[in-house]
Amino acid sequence: MSLDTLSITNPDTLTPAVWQQFYRKTVCVLFGHQVNNRSFEASPTHLNCCSCGVEFLREDGPETRISHTVSCFLFGHSYTTMGSRHDHVEFVCRQCGHPLLFGFELEDFYTGKETFQKKVRYLCNLFGHRRVHKVAERGGLTEYACHCGHSFLKRKVRNAIIRHPLICLFVGHYVSYVTRRNGYAEFVCRSCGHTFCFVDRM
Ligand SMILES: [Zn+2]
Ligand SMILES: [Zn+2]
Ligand SMILES: [Zn+2]
Ligand SMILES: [Zn+2]
Repeated sequence: MSLDTLSITNPDTLTPAVWQQFYRKTVCVLFGHQVNNRSFEASPTHLNCCSCGVEFLREDGPETRISHTVSCFLFGHSYTTMGSRHDHVEFVCRQCGHPLLFGFELEDFYTGKETFQKKVRYLCNLFGHRRVHKVAERGGLTEYACHCGHSFLKRKVRNAIIRHPLICLFVGHYVSYVTRRNGYAEFVCRSCGHTFCFVDRM
């Protein structure tokens, strides 16, 4: 139920539940839909439906505008192991779906850990990811990873610095489906190439 003309003309229908739903819808319209792997995990039957009531993150549907997860940005992502591929170990944030890719050869501190907390690398966010290397060609795009673990799925880049475009900072990411693996559905942002992996509820 939404705060439609009927509700406004008939105050009896303006229940707290209607206001709550109206508030959720307004937040999603302003900032994009909120994503949370923990709630996706907890409600596997709520197939691709945001708490605002809108169907989203569809494999065959239109792009979904997702908002930034402020708690991850401020306090760090909470990663869990997702699997390994293309000579890299892949982790995924249990909250926002942010992936993390480390090459085997890097023998990174995190490799071999089941779960861990990792802060956003603010320098890379601010000045761009330097020292990116190619991971794979897939879905007609090229996947790159920075030494900080951030990965991107983009058309070929000319130089070795990948920046986060301001448009995504201000409006959120417009993501569409790429593929599924290891129990997750992967989506990519059309503007920045940032990928997100969400608990697969198919
Ligand atoms: Zn929503
Ligand atoms: Zn996160
Ligand atoms: Zn980086
Ligand atoms: Zn983006």
